[in-house]
Amino acid sequence: MSKDDVLVLGLGPVGATLALLLAAHGVRVRVLEREAARYPLPRALHFDDEVMRVFQSLGLADAILPATRISPGMKFVAPDGRLLMDWSRPQALGPLGWHVSYRFHQPALEDALREALAARGIAVETGVNVTEIAQDAEGVTAAGRRARWLVGCDGARSITRDTIGGGFEDLGFAERWLVVDLLLARPRDDLGDHSIQFCDPRRPATYVRGVGERRRFEITLHDDEAPDDRMDPALAWSLLDRWVTPADGTLERAAVYTFNSKVARRWRDRRVFIAGDAAHLTPPFLGQGLCAGIRDAANLAWKLARGDDPLLDTYQRERAPHVRQYIETAVRIGGLINTRAMAEALGTDAPEEPVRMASIAPALGGFEAPLGRPVPQPWLADGIRLDDRVGHRWAVLLRDAELPADRLAEQGAVLVADPALHAFLDTHNAIAALVRPDRQLCALARDATAMAGFSALMEGQR
Ligand SMILES: Cc1cc2nc3c(=O)[nH]c(=O)nc-3n(C[C@H](O)[C@H](O)[C@H](O)COP(=O)(O)OP(=O)(O)OC[C@H]3O[C@@H](n4cnc5c(N)ncnc54)[C@H](O)[C@@H]3O)c2cc1C
Repeated sequence: MSKDDVLVLGLGPVGATLALLLAAHGVRVRVLEREAARYPLPRALHFDDEVMRVFQSLGLADAILPATRISPGMKFVAPDGRLLMDWSRPQALGPLGWHVSYRFHQPALEDALREALAARGIAVETGVNVTEIAQDAEGVTAAGRRARWLVGCDGARSITRDTIGGGFEDLGFAERWLVVDLLLARPRDDLGDHSIQFCDPRRPATYVRGVGERRRFEITLHDDEAPDDRMDPALAWSLLDRWVTPADGTLERAAVYTFNSKVARRWRDRRVFIAGDAAHLTPPFLGQGLCAGIRDAANLAWKLARGDDPLLDTYQRERAPHVRQYIETAVRIGGLINTRAMAEALGTDAPEEPVRMASIAPALGGFEAPLGRPVPQPWLADGIRLDDRVGHRWAVLLRDAELPADRLAEQGAVLVADPALHAFLDTHNAIAALVRPDRQLCALARDATAMAGFSALMEGQR
């Protein structure tokens, strides 16, 4: 029986990313996946700058970027074509060093992750269906493999979540939607680059421009349509006919999904954890389900690498309230797509001017912003980005290279004193900032005494 440090259950995007992060932290990891081949169709279409930053930390930005497209954002449109709300996204690089919103092709992303796992010699076993997880004081066993820890990235029907117990807390949104991926056979530039939420109480719908010739339509289904969840292509085309017809292209798939809003009550039982869809489900209106799962992976990887218990308990405390804010916002958007709800929410029957929507940026549970949020990633004076200098370690960002930080360096922190950091530190009236290996701002210091406290924080005595 082999003994690894961590078993990762599930080779979806979250499991693959977690395994790569763990390996980057020097952890011996083994991935067990039930399916022989990767899921061929896209579900997610969008990820954000924080997720791109995780891929950067894995050296995968160059492999992933060519199959992405910078997103101009989202518009909410009334049945008569009026623009009700505008969530346009900046087209310049954002403070985290990447664009704030990317469209991508999920199978291409998963291929890049799998290739990296193979290239880095990380153990991956496919065709292994885990039916039972058992743990004792020394370790955890699944399908005859043994490790110190196990993380279930095994999706919405997670057996790991069942093993941990506690179930899901339901946040109340459950709707059946038709999800159509169309491969355009002829140009349809008029469909546009913005995502569009068609706010029509009779038939709320979403349009998303994918990469290349791909276009996504998500359309609410009434109870009498496809009651057995099997979609007849003729019905799909009839629901699409206000935008496209069979002359425009072919259906890559037309499937019925029930969009849910749920957060698992327990994300850990001793040596066993859950991450990704196993831990939370969101309606896709913000494009944040996969993003939240990648954030889980980044939050958990360095804590598992350290393997100390009180620190590992911060995983759910930090991540659950954070993802909950995204899910609750997505549910509100789901409500807004109904124009009557939108008018109520905007406090007017018919807004004259479109309302501008702002992105949310919650702090991790247990922190108050600006702490518990990702630090900016500028280019440093020597032409490399902050994260490329720091790697997967702690960092101390210094206003002045002469500040006394030797002890922190001995503890493994990378010290960075660079003019590119002045704006960030000055905004917070700080001489130094402590940054965790997952790029989250852990503490700010206004003077040397406060900075001395960084040492204890690094030891995990927060
Ligand atoms: C229509 C739609 C649109 C979406 N759009 C977006 C978007 O734009 N942006 C975004 O961020 N998110 C989006 N999402 C959500 C996103 O697709 C998911 O959050 C993400 O794919 C979940 O990844 P995961 O790795 O957690 O789970 P999965 O991808 O479900 O992977 C789980 C893996 O575990 C394996 N497994 C399960 N059980 C076992 C077992 N017992 N033994 C062994 N292996 C097992 C499975 O075979 C699978 O490979 C969307 C979802 C949908 C449905």
